[in-house]
Amino acid sequence: MADLRELYQEVIFDHYKRPRNFHRLTGADCFAEGHNPLCGDRITVYLKTNDGVIEDVSFEGSGCAISTASASLMTEVLKGRTLADVESLFEGFHAMVTDGDGSPHADLGKLEVLSGVREFPARVKCATLAWHTLNAALRHQASVSTE
Ligand code: ZN
Repeated sequence: MADLRELYQEVIFDHYKRPRNFHRLTGADCFAEGHNPLCGDRITVYLKTNDGVIEDVSFEGSGCAISTASASLMTEVLKGRTLADVESLFEGFHAMVTDGDGSPHADLGKLEVLSGVREFPARVKCATLAWHTLNAALRHQASVSTE
């Protein structure tokens, strides 16, 4: 398990240093700002949806390694997903970073690199910020705070 943990840390660090889909999305039909006051993370998530499917998603902002990597991974996973998929991914992701039992969630794919967050309860809000911001955007809320 130590090797797997190291690999996960490398992936997180890579997404922190070179975040994917890190730009303002032109033609976005919804976006929202998210703030995690506990850590100082601030991100904006942009979405382009079509007929209940996420066509494109991007983000901007500044935050710690966990919040940035989580947002970057989220944008990679969401493209082409339906809004129903988003619900179940968020549920699975939230369970993964908060549940102590560590049971794997089969459909989370690369999001599993963040499973180690459950050992650091103070960082859970860093990991979930992008998802809360995504949900705010989908509900056409301008902003959301994790507090
Ligand atoms: Zn943070």
